[in-house]
Amino acid sequence: MIPFNKPYLTGKEAHYMYQAVFSGKISGNGIFTKKCQYYFEQRYGYKKCLLTTSCTDALEMAAILCDVKPGDEVIVPSYTFVSSALAFVRQGAKIVFADSMGTNPNIDADKLEALITPKTKVIVPVHYAGVACDMDKIMEIADRHNILVVEDAAQAIDSYYKGRPLGSIGHLAAFSFHETKNIISGEGGLLAINDERFIRRSEIIWEKGTNRSEFFRGEVNKYGWVDTGSSFLPSEVIAAFLYAQLESMEMIQNRRKAIWAKYYDGLKDLADMGLFSTPEIPTYATNNAHMFYLVCRSLEERSALITYLKEYGILSVFHYLALHKSDYYTRHCADRPELPMCDHYADCLVRLPMYYELSDEEIGQIVEAIHDFYSKI
Ligand SMILES: *Cc1c(COP(=O)(O)O)cnc(C)c1O
Repeated sequence: MIPFNKPYLTGKEAHYMYQAVFSGKISGNGIFTKKCQYYFEQRYGYKKCLLTTSCTDALEMAAILCDVKPGDEVIVPSYTFVSSALAFVRQGAKIVFADSMGTNPNIDADKLEALITPKTKVIVPVHYAGVACDMDKIMEIADRHNILVVEDAAQAIDSYYKGRPLGSIGHLAAFSFHETKNIISGEGGLLAINDERFIRRSEIIWEKGTNRSEFFRGEVNKYGWVDTGSSFLPSEVIAAFLYAQLESMEMIQNRRKAIWAKYYDGLKDLADMGLFSTPEIPTYATNNAHMFYLVCRSLEERSALITYLKEYGILSVFHYLALHKSDYYTRHCADRPELPMCDHYADCLVRLPMYYELSDEEIGQIVEAIHDFYSKI
């Protein structure tokens, strides 16, 4: 059986977790947390980084920092994970769903302007599969209308837009270390703060609405309740796990990229015949090999392919039911937007197994099974 995902362990996780446990400090914001945050600030140039317990939490922090209030509108692609929208809904925002591009599932920046109203407060570009949205276009529109941009970079670690790291372009950005992502800590996330206006408040929101971080730096002589917030910070045990992964970033990324290239080469003949499309990486974007997907010609063909692969012991999955058609949204919002590209990806996209330990032989088996499937229809 070839699973869809298998969390990769570098071998040093338990060692660092042991160190964290026996250091006598296992709550948050200790040595490993600082090491991880420093890693991201140094390597990618984010002005300030805070580890969180998930990307969902980082997005919730972003929604608070953007001061999203009831009545505000937030533009989110419909083809994304629930959290991209839910984090803002919890602040009372009305979600305005945007369609995907024809060439990839990212938000269509050319259709963005039409969705903006005087109430629009935030745009949330999601870098699907770690491939950049067209950030110059999005930032230009946002600046012109005085709108904040929160990058949902959950899948976008170590990926770039015109040479700039994803997560460094919007005012704020959220990353995920969920076990299905490239770099993992089981559950985990990171908020990157690029607009300096948000730095002081971000630490307070992170620490349950207290100015505890300033107190520990000796900047104030007592700490107390100064703002809203929650317990968004992970324990040192989680940060220790994550640090082991970060040390192996290069190795993990190189192997994933090799897997991606093997899929791409192995399936190119079928893609050229028009039987499905493979991911298209725009010239402004890099590929961090988070995901390898096919876009089939129809829902029926996709279902048949998934079933066929399963008979070979290969687990492929589809995902993202359109959020604008979700049970929750349709119960709470009267809007019924037409988002044909989103519907297309929701019906036709299938993700192939993608994880560090996937062997060349297994990739060969998967590629062969897909050839078999298409030779029979
Ligand atoms: C994985 C993912 C999330 C959620 O991440 P968690 O760390 O599980 O909260 C949010 N948005 C996108 C696009 C994701 O892929």
